[in-house]
Amino acid sequence: MLINDYHIHSEFSGDSNEKLDKIVKKALELGMEDIAITDHLEYDIIGMTDRWKLKLDKYAKTILEYKEKYKDKIDIKLGVEIGIQPHTREYLEKEVEKYPFDFIIASTHALDRHDIAMGELQKHRNKDQLQKYYFETVLKNVQDYNNFSVYGHIDFITRYGGEQYRGLNYKENLDVIDEILKTLISKNKGLEINTSGYRYQENRFYPCTDLLKRYFELGGEIITIGSDSHVSEYIGKDFDIAYDFLKSIGVKYICSFDKLNPVFKTIK
Ligand SMILES: [Zn+2]
Ligand SMILES: [Zn+2]
Repeated sequence: MLINDYHIHSEFSGDSNEKLDKIVKKALELGMEDIAITDHLEYDIIGMTDRWKLKLDKYAKTILEYKEKYKDKIDIKLGVEIGIQPHTREYLEKEVEKYPFDFIIASTHALDRHDIAMGELQKHRNKDQLQKYYFETVLKNVQDYNNFSVYGHIDFITRYGGEQYRGLNYKENLDVIDEILKTLISKNKGLEINTSGYRYQENRFYPCTDLLKRYFELGGEIITIGSDSHVSEYIGKDFDIAYDFLKSIGVKYICSFDKLNPVFKTIK
């Protein structure tokens, strides 16, 4: 039985048209206890169009209405995925403080205002240089930001740029990755296991198993699992692989979140 899905996009995201009723229906079919809707809140990315500007008032109001509507069947959490950059901290932290969020994913989608998915960064950096720069920026982000629950798809930098950018340089970036994990743990922040890597032909979840094991080794305990679905059919997809992996290394719990506080749930 699947417990929850803590990374779901709906029609409020610039890259999704999915209706909330469909999302809830799918989660109920899978027997989930709770789900977090985590639409994109992005800021100051070159070429960002209007549809990417999350209308937070309407978003929060609607999710809270759905929470009420389905309260006897499933616990719907007001979440958000903030795309963080070092220079946008003040704006984003102020924005998210205005709403009663249960759960906030912090993700690095852009470096120097360039969306990693768009290819501009790859023009000027090879795989090694891009991964090094990405992790250095993630470190800066985790040092600066305080208002989030988990870090999203923390090593998904391998997703974009084509074949020559695939494959994580885990060992080469170990020092900075260790610093990132220690900082997260000292701030009581979690890591997300994001199963979308299987859909991007990477045959893995984000983060890779080495990085995840290291988080536990260093004392981390807070894990959420998310599909990063933009259509409801992907909700809960490949979660069995994540559960099996966690059990295989002796991890017995994953988390839900309530008003930004982790709630530990036993993996069945
Ligand atoms: Zn993301
Ligand atoms: Zn996402």
